[in-house]
Amino acid sequence: MIFSFTNSVNAQHDNDTIKATTEKKYQAKAPPTQPFGQEAFGKSNETTIRWLGMGGFLINSRGTTLMVDPLLKGFDMPVMIDFPIKTEDVPKLDAILITHSDNDHYSIPTNRDLKAVTKSYHSTIYVDSLMKAEGFPSFGHNPGDKFNVDPVSVEMVAVDHAWQNAYPGTATRIFKDEDSTGFLIETPDGTIWAQGDSRLMPEHLTISPVPDAILFDFSDSEWHFTFEGCENCKRLSQYTTFALSLGIGGCTGLCPV
Ligand SMILES: [Zn+2]
Repeated sequence: MIFSFTNSVNAQHDNDTIKATTEKKYQAKAPPTQPFGQEAFGKSNETTIRWLGMGGFLINSRGTTLMVDPLLKGFDMPVMIDFPIKTEDVPKLDAILITHSDNDHYSIPTNRDLKAVTKSYHSTIYVDSLMKAEGFPSFGHNPGDKFNVDPVSVEMVAVDHAWQNAYPGTATRIFKDEDSTGFLIETPDGTIWAQGDSRLMPEHLTISPVPDAILFDFSDSEWHFTFEGCENCKRLSQYTTFALSLGIGGCTGLCPV
């Protein structure tokens, strides 16, 4: 969730001898939050994407409203942005889509607040089991499955993000690839690929229909899209729009995945 890069700076040269090399680290910052209110949930003749901060998005497609991985409160680390809307100001959602169970994508405090105004929740079979335990009106899907939130159709896209297995002690269960998902969201105005936290997979480069926008939670951690993944996608000239969520609304300190 944190975007940083390292730039080695040759601080001083003296007679062709490098006397000192300093390493400078930078913390990227998001521009000021653009708050929004009920107008973002109303009737529309188009499809609008709003970034919620972190890995979250609001999509209003011809008046049908969906949130992907909303996190609007209750994160367990400091955040560097103001969220654009409070949960109590969300008037209605036709669906919430959750990519995976990491708490920066599946925010239980946020989703508990939104339950009263949300018609349906969709995710993987595993995350659905967590949501059903919360009493959410949820549906679990397998990779490749499709479901509708009219006029929007959504396809479950395979991901590679079972990072927990690489770090014994971080989870009490063995995670499977299909416990996480991406979403290919087809609207009347274009196709949006929300890829969650996945590494870029070879099959992603031939995803069909070709997305008009890609929503991703960027990190250079090896368990995410990474710089290389970004470059690979940018090389695909068929991507007509490239929507980027720098995951910089997030934390200070270590990168949660
Ligand atoms: Zn994750």
